[in-house]
Amino acid sequence: MINRVLAGIRATGRLHLGNYLGAIKGMIELQNNSEYETLYMVADTHAITTPYNVEGLKTGRREVFIDYLSAGLDPEKSILFLQSDIGEQVEIAFYLSSVVSIARMQHLPTYKDKVTQYPNSNTMALLNYPILMAADILAYKASLVPVGVDQEPHLEVAREIARKMNQTYGMDFPEPKRFATQGEYIPSLTGEGKMSKTVSGSYINLTDSKEEIQKKVRSIPTATEAGGEITGGLKTLFMLGRIFIPDETIRFKEDFMNGTLRFVDFKDALSEAIAKDLEPFQEKRAQISRDTEYVDRVIKEGAEKARVIVKKTLHELKSKMGLT
Ligand code: ATP
Ligand code: MG
Repeated sequence: MINRVLAGIRATGRLHLGNYLGAIKGMIELQNNSEYETLYMVADTHAITTPYNVEGLKTGRREVFIDYLSAGLDPEKSILFLQSDIGEQVEIAFYLSSVVSIARMQHLPTYKDKVTQYPNSNTMALLNYPILMAADILAYKASLVPVGVDQEPHLEVAREIARKMNQTYGMDFPEPKRFATQGEYIPSLTGEGKMSKTVSGSYINLTDSKEEIQKKVRSIPTATEAGGEITGGLKTLFMLGRIFIPDETIRFKEDFMNGTLRFVDFKDALSEAIAKDLEPFQEKRAQISRDTEYVDRVIKEGAEKARVIVKKTLHELKSKMGLT
């Protein structure tokens, strides 16, 4: 069987460093490895599982698509598509839901987190999110999924579903594994929880200017006294430091330990490195977002290619489940 890879990012806002380091870096690495056939979707259907606004989604899903192209996802090497263009994935999700208990979904930490975040939007769509994600992956019989560590509970569900469908109906779904990167968990700038598109104040966007990045990094709460325990904002600072300025961070850490660190020096060195790292992305983005026809064409061609694969799985699944 071909080694397939599938991943997606929700169209719920502008991409941030967590999405870039935890997901896109891995997506690119696998795209450039000829052993894999890579499929990357903009998860716009997933975006309706939490409160959203119609106009925001319409533009947001295209913006994420442009982000993909600007970050180096290449339609010559990967199948890039919009999730909602492949309605078959939703159909497959319904079939898969027949082997999942409600209790299993209700106990997921990701589900509980989202209910806490949106107490008035505890919907069936939200409860079903992990099943749709399993369908996204299994529809392509993907065995590897480059996503951040926060998605591990969902991958566990996908593996359980694959096992059950294989045992019950004789399908041959692989049990998908996560492909991890160094930045698999980027903490929030506030020091609490992870960086998330939908948590304001938590992120640095890939499109932020040098000045915005500097302002945001400076705002990371750090202990007033150097030399204390590394928690909260300090943890975020050191984590980003290890990724963007590893050598300097060793020195800053020593300064911190012996109480001589000036946080602003560390923060400014870090924000400068982040801004520099994002420069090529931002330049490419400016160019691609002007080329409307190109983006339209890639979206259309990606859907055509993805649909061929999904149709095959859907046909097999319906037939094995007694629906043909
Ligand atoms: P939302 O707030 O809408 O859930 P999000 O920022 O959590 O947005 P997702 O679209 O849910 O982003 O996730 C897209 C990809 O980015 C997934 O692979 C996810 O694991 C990864 N990811 C999200 N946040 C982080 C983070 N802070 N660190 C590392 N990876 C992350
Ligand atoms: Mg998320």
